[in-house]
Amino acid sequence: MSEKFSFQVLAECSQTKARAGLFLTPHGIVETPRFMPVGTLANVKTITTAQLGETGAQMVLANTYHLHLQPGEAIVAKAGGLHSFMQWHGPMLTDSGGFQVFSLSELRQVTDEGVTFRSPRDGQVINITPEKSIQIQNTLGADVIMAFDECPPYPASRTAVEAATNRTYQWLERCIATHQRQDQALFGIVQGGIHLDLRAQAAQALAKLNLPGYAIGGVSVGEPPELIHQIVKATAPFLPREKPRYLMGVGTYREMAQAVAAGVDVFDCVIPTRLARHGAALVQQGNRWNLKNAQFREDFTPLDETCPCYTCQSFTRAYLCHLVRSHEILAYTLLSIHNITELVRFTQRMRQAILSDRFTTEFAFWLTEEVN
Ligand SMILES: [Zn+2]
Repeated sequence: MSEKFSFQVLAECSQTKARAGLFLTPHGIVETPRFMPVGTLANVKTITTAQLGETGAQMVLANTYHLHLQPGEAIVAKAGGLHSFMQWHGPMLTDSGGFQVFSLSELRQVTDEGVTFRSPRDGQVINITPEKSIQIQNTLGADVIMAFDECPPYPASRTAVEAATNRTYQWLERCIATHQRQDQALFGIVQGGIHLDLRAQAAQALAKLNLPGYAIGGVSVGEPPELIHQIVKATAPFLPREKPRYLMGVGTYREMAQAVAAGVDVFDCVIPTRLARHGAALVQQGNRWNLKNAQFREDFTPLDETCPCYTCQSFTRAYLCHLVRSHEILAYTLLSIHNITELVRFTQRMRQAILSDRFTTEFAFWLTEEVN
């Protein structure tokens, strides 16, 4: 790892693989485990970076695919890079665009060289290769950049998943050869679908490359949630202990707690802002309330009286209900502030529990398999 990045394990749970760590980047520290909000188009939807900072979020994501299409990385570079463009001065991560190319775009042609697809914005034919993805991410300037990977859909045949996993490895070697900036850390992504042996092999192969960090990708693509836990348990032990581990696209309580127990450090998910835009709040560890419901019309208590966020400290459920029913934009802002704070706090509580070695007792509810 370049001297601008380091990862330190501060404490390990005595009964699980959970660990509390410190990930140092050129733009500051990430205390792990930590939830990372998603700012797809260089903004976390409906909130300012000042509001985002108050949620306790430390590292924020932006999407390479979306920013390449609009405004284009050249404009971001002219603005001085992503941090300066969006005025977020903490750690940032860009994904490689791989997941979006495979999930959002039409008319894909995948070859060993790269992927050709039609822009959903204007129909223009675009080609992204591992080299191109890294060049875009070098230009955008986030602290952590991700390797360009082939994310197989679910379900997919074992043969197809195996081919995608092998291609992801070959693409990773090309990403490493292209990557130029010492102030950016390139993370590799483990693929392998739901095949635990492919996951283990891929993780072992990637571990040998001595990258500054590793991600588990290709989950949360429609497979049953219990498979996520099995995939993480089969993958994480083969990734180096002294490097940060990132589970991509997961932001539900149970899946995060079980992944932390398997040794994962950071997470991202669009769920807090997406729920907010549907008028829903994440409360009391896992419940989702629809603020439109009549029961909130005359409820003059805060959303969650234990929550330190601006929304809970200032407003009542009745007010939020009124805003949601009136389709006021402020509703989405206030609910996003709360929902992000709630998920960040959940990961902060796990961190505190690991530091005092009470993780398995305090999070027992989430660590048991779901019984339905
Ligand atoms: Zn709150």
